Amino acid sequence: MSGGTVHIVGAGLAGLSAAVALVDTGNKVVIHELARHAGGRCRSYFEPALGMTIDNGNHLLLSGNASAIAFLSKIGGRDLIHEPVHAEFNFYDLKSKKDWMLRPNDGPLPWWIFSAGRRVPNTRSFDYIRLGKLLGARADETVGQKINTDTTVYSHLMEPVLLAALNCDPKEGSALLAAAVIRETLGRGGRACRPLFAANGLGPALVEPAVAYVEERAGEVRFDHGVRSIAWEGERARALQFADEAVELGRGDRLVLAVPAWVAKTLLPELRAPSEYRSIFNAHFAFPAPKQLPKITGVINATTEWLFAFENRLSVTVSSADRFNEAEREPMARRIWSEISQIAGLDAEMPRWQIVKERRATFAATPEQNELRPRAETRWRNVFLAGDWTATGLPATIEGAIRSGETAAKLAMAA
Ligand SMILES: Cc1cc2nc3c(=O)[nH]c(=O)nc-3n(C[C@H](O)[C@H](O)[C@H](O)COP(=O)(O)OP(=O)(O)OC[C@H]3O[C@@H](n4cnc5c(N)ncnc54)[C@H](O)[C@@H]3O)c2cc1C
Repeated sequence: MSGGTVHIVGAGLAGLSAAVALVDTGNKVVIHELARHAGGRCRSYFEPALGMTIDNGNHLLLSGNASAIAFLSKIGGRDLIHEPVHAEFNFYDLKSKKDWMLRPNDGPLPWWIFSAGRRVPNTRSFDYIRLGKLLGARADETVGQKINTDTTVYSHLMEPVLLAALNCDPKEGSALLAAAVIRETLGRGGRACRPLFAANGLGPALVEPAVAYVEERAGEVRFDHGVRSIAWEGERARALQFADEAVELGRGDRLVLAVPAWVAKTLLPELRAPSEYRSIFNAHFAFPAPKQLPKITGVINATTEWLFAFENRLSVTVSSADRFNEAEREPMARRIWSEISQIAGLDAEMPRWQIVKERRATFAATPEQNELRPRAETRWRNVFLAGDWTATGLPATIEGAIRSGETAAKLAMAA
């Protein structure tokens, strides 16, 4: 442990995971967060239109997301995560009105691909074996260059899964990042790809316990305290400038910048970082989930991509949704409610609803953008980067954000 304070800028999951790792080893930590709450792009808030607390976006984890699970266990949020016993993914095709369940077996030997009842209907074992080509991807290759995208296994499995993981059209998405996701989840068998989500919200499971963990260990979290600029001296950051004060950094002080890429670029001169983003929108409906509805359904041939069934609401995720950025909200809500009604067999008026658009939800996980991701070390000896957009080897995900925070914390400890 070095002396001095570690200043962390940003209380999203990257900043929080850095803070948790640092207070664990007895480091003095101060987090500076621009907003009045923690969580960043992964947060719960009270939504007046629905009269309930919701998440800004439905977030799915997989049981192979080892760092996220270790983080949850450490901060005490693990019990608030819904986790099925086996990896079972329900799908519904709005065009054919057919549903099916994908059921990878638990162990790493994928015998499920030889069992017609466990795979996508009208696919063959060989279709899955051919997907293995993805695992040998180079950094400049797209998914579309590596695997045949004109197959049922692509349209009914790989496309929905990779669209959610990469948040860009998988055809233009980085094959290397897609391979990293597959290698850590589906490639390790069903045990590593059980779908997990925070049944009572991201805030109570992932964010609030992390803030409490840091504060209980003498860490300080300062909200409404955005960094405006950084003063530099030689090879070091010398001071943080806020709206109403400057905080000088002493010799032993270090800085972890855990802000989004577009903010980091304004704070760090000459930073090379991803510059293209994709939106995600979520449509939430105040309607209790019917008992027979699976907790998560992948939807094919529809605007709805994933339907989440919460106790008090039904909620839909649409990734890489820039084409809908300017779409009128009410017709969109009606369209999605009509799809939900067909999937869930409902005959009810559209309930209270809200559409939440995150325009810069993640960077576009293309090979070109992936190549722009910086490492955690910077040319300044006391400054380290964290965030889902840094070079984690994963797409912009909770798992990547948490890992990036841990990497930055390790470097800060060693500095
Ligand atoms: C709608 C949506 C759905 C998603 N779905 C999934 C999913 O299903 N699974 C998954 O794994 N991932 C998902 N993601 C991605 C995941 O949310 C992000 O990868 C992760 O939350 C990023 O964390 P972060 O800490 O890197 O960045 P952020 O969450 O952006 O945190 C950065 C923090 O820095 C703060 N900040 C900004 N400027 C300043 C400043 N000047 N001074 C101080 N603080 C500042 C911000 O307020 C913010 O709190 C989704 C994202 C969205 C938006």
